[in-house]
Amino acid sequence: MTSGEEKGSLVLKGIGVSPGIVRGKAFLYNRFDSQIDLYKLTEPRQISSETKRLKTALRKSEKELRELKKNLGHLSGVEPLYIIDVYIMILRDKAFSGNVLQNIQEKQVNAEWAVNMTLDRYRKMFEKVEDEYIRGRIADIQYVGQRILRHLTGEKTEILKDLGKDVIIVARDLSPADTAQFMIDKVLGFATDMGGKTSHTAIVAQAIEIPAVVGLETLTSLVKTDDDIILDGNNGTVIINPPQEIQNSYEDKKRLYLDARMAALQYAKLPAVTKDNHQVNIGGNIEFIEEIASAVAYGAEGIGLYRTEFIYINRTAPPSEEEHFNCYRRIIGIDGLSWSTIRTFDLGGDKIFTQQRQEREANPQLGLRAIRFCLREQEIFRVQLRAIIRASRFGKTKVLFPMISSIEELREAKRIYQEVRAELMASGTPIGEDVKIGVMIEVPSAVIIADKLAREVDFFSIGTNDLIQYALAIDRVNEKVTYLYEPLHPAVLRMLKQVVEAGHRAGIPVAMCGEMAGEPLYTLILLGLGLDEMSMNPLAMPQIKRIIRGATMKESRRLLREVLNYASAEEIRGQVFAYMKDRFPEVFSLNTH
Ligand code: PEP
Ligand code: MG
Repeated sequence: MTSGEEKGSLVLKGIGVSPGIVRGKAFLYNRFDSQIDLYKLTEPRQISSETKRLKTALRKSEKELRELKKNLGHLSGVEPLYIIDVYIMILRDKAFSGNVLQNIQEKQVNAEWAVNMTLDRYRKMFEKVEDEYIRGRIADIQYVGQRILRHLTGEKTEILKDLGKDVIIVARDLSPADTAQFMIDKVLGFATDMGGKTSHTAIVAQAIEIPAVVGLETLTSLVKTDDDIILDGNNGTVIINPPQEIQNSYEDKKRLYLDARMAALQYAKLPAVTKDNHQVNIGGNIEFIEEIASAVAYGAEGIGLYRTEFIYINRTAPPSEEEHFNCYRRIIGIDGLSWSTIRTFDLGGDKIFTQQRQEREANPQLGLRAIRFCLREQEIFRVQLRAIIRASRFGKTKVLFPMISSIEELREAKRIYQEVRAELMASGTPIGEDVKIGVMIEVPSAVIIADKLAREVDFFSIGTNDLIQYALAIDRVNEKVTYLYEPLHPAVLRMLKQVVEAGHRAGIPVAMCGEMAGEPLYTLILLGLGLDEMSMNPLAMPQIKRIIRGATMKESRRLLREVLNYASAEEIRGQVFAYMKDRFPEVFSLNTH
């Protein structure tokens, strides 16, 4: 986060995780801010009374969560409500409650203090986890702890009924359940000190389309309830008590943004065809089944990437074949989707079921991840494959293997796939006739042998998020080197070119499903490369379609040819930005690059 004074007002920079510009009154939201007192238990009678208090608080917390889930249940598309199940699971987890009980009985402290000690213990454990996603899950445990504490101290449940209109919620952190509640209360936006792009809160904010900025670090100590606030979820800015001229300029900016968005939405249902008649397929990237409706509404023609590892996260045991099947059945062949690309799960390293017995790895990004993990833990892989193959009879299905780095890995994955398929056929299980098998090109070695891989698969999908991290040697989760993360690096562009050419020479289509595909600045470059499919975060689709429909292949190839001559990424970026801003002012007048 950075902050600064701009004409008398305080400007804070965080991470914009859900787009939109809003102005309103701050509401400082504290989930639990009571002081917790410690007192020692001196008599056995006190120990049993504290134990009883704890059990009552656990029961009440669970009841409250079940009610919350029921109240939110009618909201379709406002997922992942499964997070409430996770909270209930934590409440019922014997290791968690057992540790609190142990504190009461052995350390002889009151129930509140015992809960606090357990939360501290978990916090310390989670701080050591390298994986950003899993580390962030401590927020779920804390959320549950705070609910228990509130029942113990008799503090009222946080009800936001005093909220006026036009409120922007400011908090240290928010749970997805809080966030879903805000939608019911029609808050304008929210801003938090904590959080990152992968937090559940960010995912829910996008799904319910409320502008949000996270990672503001000190916001709650700088803002008071009823302060005027402008929140810009597009670029991650929050302005406290803006003077009139800034308010005016933001009103203009907001109008422009809304106009641009409305204008872009008109493109959602149109095909992505260039003026000289070249069509690109537009796929949606999803993490949760519940996102499908909005993906279709924003213009997804198919699903280009279903990150199935989200079926595994936040649970203690791997999902069953039926659970997998139920997910795939809700995507494959449904109205509005012409194809569904199911990526086999990309887990491993320390990104495995929350409580599993995984060994910690020094470099999890280079470790036992994705296909490597699947080939090692074949039974888990087979369960998923069985479910995909069974669901494939309902519509056009593509299976995508992540992180392939050699031909042996591909052959082995395909061998297992064929074996599972043959078993299903032998048992008379109905299956799809024509499943396409593809690989993600996201490791530099796969780029270099793309010509060989292309002969053994039906399609490629380029994962630029990983490819860039591996090609430029930048840890994608290390904020100290993010400045080096550059999709327009000439090395990256050359790699992309090589992959598309290798795929086309072998007669197979080439897709891109990394974030690069959903960034308007790169659209002409990607067109010029000749990608057959671009798959992206659904909110990005209308704008990308708009650009494609306004462009020609001829100019895209020319721009690409020109920038491929440069040695410097900075020069390429400057040139591409100048070109795009000139050609598509309606899109780029709001962006700075
Ligand atoms: C990628 O690496 O570009 C990709 C799409 O996969 P993920 O972001 O899930 O690693
Ligand atoms: Mg990847």
